[in-house]
Amino acid sequence: RAKRSMTANYEYYAPEMEEKTTWRLGMIRQLRSDFAERKLELWYQPQVNLVNEDIVGMEALLRWPDKDGGYISPAVFVPLAEYSGLIIDIGAWVLEEACRKLKSLHHKGFPDLRVAVNISMPQFRDSQFVSLVKSALIEHDIKPSLLELEITESVVMDEPQIVVDSLKELKAFGVTIAIDDFGTGFSSMSYLQKLPLDRLKVDRSFVNEVTPGKTAFIAETIVTLGNKLGLHTIAEGIEKREQASYMLRLGCDEAQGFLYARPMPFDDLINFLDHYNSSESQQAGDSGL
Ligand code: C2E
Ligand code: MG
Ligand code: MG
Ligand code: MG
Repeated sequence: RAKRSMTANYEYYAPEMEEKTTWRLGMIRQLRSDFAERKLELWYQPQVNLVNEDIVGMEALLRWPDKDGGYISPAVFVPLAEYSGLIIDIGAWVLEEACRKLKSLHHKGFPDLRVAVNISMPQFRDSQFVSLVKSALIEHDIKPSLLELEITESVVMDEPQIVVDSLKELKAFGVTIAIDDFGTGFSSMSYLQKLPLDRLKVDRSFVNEVTPGKTAFIAETIVTLGNKLGLHTIAEGIEKREQASYMLRLGCDEAQGFLYARPMPFDDLINFLDHYNSSESQQAGDSGL
């Protein structure tokens, strides 16, 4: 009887699982060849100072073009890249490309901008990782403090020692470190003491509500925690004016979100920065100063 029901289960689940596996392998194969053909793109989303709304930097975000002129979401393909190990090479390219483009922005008249790059767990397991980051900075002659590494709480919890050691070495070199999607991971807060952190990124899900309630209290608590620990804070996913002013009132330093700009290709970013700056000075000019 037991055997019979196992067979039944097998028959019921197998086709679906097989389909999923086939889909996954197909995606990975396509990702590998598109990456080899340099078809992946790196887009950038500006980050602003909440007090004066100056642009302070940007987050680099991967984009994978599909056949129909659209893009496959990194939420879909980054996990596949992690699972297959491809993220090691892709991540190395992201670091290199982000540094190259940052240098180009510095030359174009934005010398203080920084860039934030997302780092996955498999990258930390790569023994080359720390030296890879350092050489990208040296090669492109970038002040290490203008590179920020974004890691999630799950990365911290996965293999704490490798991560702590690598981050300490990079921090000593001058690189800054942010915890991404803060508050959404399954983690204890003890890592806040162990890691050399610079910034907490308040997850988008906590900045939705600006009226008193559970969500707003969590945002408030995260900002307070960050401030008391001497860390900078940045709010993710700001879409509305009220959210920006609410986060500013809580004492949050910076923000990123569709209210300011969506992620965009590098050429668009240059245009955006030129326009953003000129509209600011335009305003100053209009006020008769
Ligand atoms: P993340 O690091 O938390 O990136 C922020 C995500 O929020 C981005 O999604 C961005 O487009 C989106 N976003 C920004 N502002 C708003 C807003 O106002 N409203 C809404 N609804 N969304 C906003 P994206 O680009 O789809 O990336 C998804 C995730 O994929 C990233 O989340 C990150 O975990 C991962 N990812 C992207 N690029 C890389 C990469 O180069 N390496 C690694 N390891 N992961 C990456
Ligand atoms: Mg991020
Ligand atoms: Mg995030
Ligand atoms: Mg997120």
